[in-house]
Amino acid sequence: MTTDQDAAMMRRCLALASSARARGEVPYAAVIGRNGRMVCESINRANADRDVTQHAELVAISQAQKALGTSSLDDCTLYTLVEPCPMCAYAMREVRIGRVVYGLGSPVMGGHSRWNILGDDGLSSRMPEVFATPPDIVAGFFTHEAAAVMQAWNPLFWTFVELRDLIRADVLHGTKRGRKRSLAAASLRWMVDRLWRR
Ligand SMILES: [Zn+2]
Repeated sequence: MTTDQDAAMMRRCLALASSARARGEVPYAAVIGRNGRMVCESINRANADRDVTQHAELVAISQAQKALGTSSLDDCTLYTLVEPCPMCAYAMREVRIGRVVYGLGSPVMGGHSRWNILGDDGLSSRMPEVFATPPDIVAGFFTHEAAAVMQAWNPLFWTFVELRDLIRADVLHGTKRGRKRSLAAASLRWMVDRLWRR
């Protein structure tokens, strides 16, 4: 289920991605919200910084951790135009992001539909003191708008992407089962955060 606040956050994400061209970046962006309020936002910085790790999602996660003063983003939602890559998906699991909302699917490079890192419950079952159960995932949100941003950024790029089926509107639908809450696991994580992660 999505709300008006989800729509507002995703619209902000689309606007940010649209602004990327003027900054010499690819049209990716991420917004992190908590209790309906925006915590932080970022476009990709990989080109500007010449640093492949500076995907919009990772930059936003880093900003959110600093802004909230915590290593754990349990009660946050991350919004992004395209299914996160495996690198970003893993970081989301490590910060225990509570919910992920994305638009287009990424069948070749995705951290949900190709390699199901976002939805993998092996992490939380084997290491419940570090990983929470998989986040709630909403996929296929604002797909037409996200595709329009990509196409406007570079029509030739978008033709290439469509021909090779790299990004698509037909997405793997997300888990809406609700994060499982275990008091014992939450207590363990609380201790680990204080002793180790801070
Ligand atoms: Zn990424």
